[in-house]
Amino acid sequence: MKKHTALRALLGACLLLAVPAWAQEAPNAEFEACLNTLRTPARAAGVQDATFAQHTQSLAPDMSVIDKLNYQPEFRMAIWDYLAGLVDEERVAEGQALLAQHADTLARVQQRYGVDPATVVAVWGVESNFGQTFGKYPLVQALGTLSCFGRRQAFFRGEFYATLRILQAGHIAPERLVGSWAGAFGHTQFMPTTFERLAVDFDGDGKRDLMDSTADALASTANFLAKAGWQTGQPWGFEVNLPAGFSTTGEGRRTKRPMAAWVARGLRQANGSALPAQLGNAGLLAPAGPQGPAFLVFRNFDALYSYNAAESYGLAIAHLSDRLRGAGPFATAWPTDDPGISRAERRELQGLLILRGHDIGEVDGMLGDKSRAAIRIEQARLGHEVSGRGGLKLLQALRAQ
Ligand code: CA
Repeated sequence: MKKHTALRALLGACLLLAVPAWAQEAPNAEFEACLNTLRTPARAAGVQDATFAQHTQSLAPDMSVIDKLNYQPEFRMAIWDYLAGLVDEERVAEGQALLAQHADTLARVQQRYGVDPATVVAVWGVESNFGQTFGKYPLVQALGTLSCFGRRQAFFRGEFYATLRILQAGHIAPERLVGSWAGAFGHTQFMPTTFERLAVDFDGDGKRDLMDSTADALASTANFLAKAGWQTGQPWGFEVNLPAGFSTTGEGRRTKRPMAAWVARGLRQANGSALPAQLGNAGLLAPAGPQGPAFLVFRNFDALYSYNAAESYGLAIAHLSDRLRGAGPFATAWPTDDPGISRAERRELQGLLILRGHDIGEVDGMLGDKSRAAIRIEQARLGHEVSGRGGLKLLQALRAQ
């Protein structure tokens, strides 16, 4: 009896481990009841009953988005890993080809919104890999689920109603409206409410289509930046040299000082020349501290920042835009003896892991959970620090074997 109870407890524990909490009872009935309660507030938000019914009837929740909502990354990615994957030779080459291909549209976008082609294309590259990575979640289903389960339901309900209004207005066909698990979609990865505020019809077909119109997408990105305070003709910032012993404590994007103050504190441009005196107030960004690359950033960096509210993100776009204009990598190296690797190198690393018998899933240049598990095993075997991080040291070690 006692043994039987213990076995049952063990089986129960295994079941709890194997099955996510949400799957233990069918959420469909709860979802349907929740959607029924959203009908009236949706109507108040401008969603007609017929629209609501059309897109929610027999809709099942996708509880995998709640797992995504609750996912806690196991470690914080270093800035040099983040940038190595987003700004690599491959993306620079693709971006430059697209600058040429869409030169006419980008020139008209610049004329209308005052944002230069390289900046617009850099946002495009970081947001959706130039339209190659949109996400695969049907938006109504993902945002409907997030409106009824998990944290931040009030926020997601606003996005859910906006999604239904976009469909109601006929801007994008329902079957085309897929995006990230959290509801960002299209070339520009706008959230639905951002779409409503800032997406524009630039190809003149009467629809604001961020899924299938490159012209609409490029113009919408420029419109976003213009509304975020982009100053035409001004730089986002530039890399600087800090004098020896310089303290970056208390400095940051928001702490803007006149150029004369930075001159007085001994900063120079990365190429060693004096700071350009005619530019306005700038903040000092040193994402890896005074030993790594440092940047003076202006108002336009804040506009890039507002696209995704992360400085690392803003720096990726800013740097990619410079690279698209022909600039090289940063002058100062990141303070690490194990630099980050490009997507091509990540694919090579994944290939080497497969050769060693690891199941890492698809070779996609993205080091996800499966790749990192395999990396840990190889790091232990090689006597490296077991971090799960794929960097240059591990790649070189595996290449050599
Ligand atoms: Ca259009």
